[in-house]
Amino acid sequence: MSATKQYPKEDVKVVWEPSKCIHSGNCARGLPNVFRPKDKPWIQVEHASKDDIVDQVSKCPSGALSITLD
Ligand code: SF4
Repeated sequence: MSATKQYPKEDVKVVWEPSKCIHSGNCARGLPNVFRPKDKPWIQVEHASKDDIVDQVSKCPSGALSITLD
């Protein structure tokens, strides 16, 4: 069982649902400074603008990554 995690960025949060991830690698390829599968925490929202993060999250094919308003 893996729990949902949330990473706040300005007025939004990146929501991460590990059980949905299909490991496409889109996120790490698109924004490698933010989505760092080898690091802890693996999502480091301080390394890109909110707009770039929201844009990249929208390209997650599985819905493992999503955005919610804070
Ligand atoms: S883009 Fe989505 S499905 Fe692909 S590795 Fe990242 S979180 Fe997982």
